[in-house]
Parts: sequence; structure tokens; C-alpha cells
Amino acid sequence: MKKWAQDACNQIDAGLFSGDTFNDEKSLQELEYYMLRWSRQLTSLKLTLDHSRFFDYKNQAWVVDGKYTRCGHSPALGCGCYGRLHEGKSYVPEQP
Ligand SMILES: [Zn+2]
Repeated sequence: MKKWAQDACNQIDAGLFSGDTFNDEKSLQELEYYMLRWSRQLTSLKLTLDHSRFFDYKNQAWVVDGKYTRCGHSPALGCGCYGRLHEGKSYVPEQP
């Protein structure tokens, strides 16, 4: 972690446990807003770092461990997503 980020985290941490920073409803709501925002971004960043899964933009489908996975749409929608139609099939990189 970069020093400026470590310092910022330490300041927030100190504010949380000092008892004099987040001691009213509005402050807690503001803190919660950031924490939820950071949590969503953390999940997204972790997925980016996980090279066992990636999004095949050409076919608009997720590939996990080299195989296409179904989309997250409800089967009732009857979607024709590539991932649903090709679930379990191996991803083959395009030749340049
Ligand atoms: Zn779909």
C-alpha cells in the first residue's frame, strides 16, 4: 500500500476508535457510504487481479478457468447469451 493510503487508513482507524470522530448519526451514515463504496470496488479490483477469470468482450461472456460460464440472467428470460449457449466449452483465443 502506498504511504499516503496507509496514512489515510490510519487516520480513519484512529477516528473510529478515539470516540470523538464518528459519534453522531450523520457521521456514521457518511462513513457507511464510503465503506460500502469501497467494499464494492474492492470486490471489483480482486476480480481484476484474478487471472483465472476474465471477460471475453468479443462474445460478451465470462471465462472461468478457461471455460465459458453462463450469464447471470434468469432462465425464464430465455436469453441467448453466448455464455449460456456455450457453458462449459473451452475459450479459444483468437489468432492474430
Ligand atoms: Zn443471458
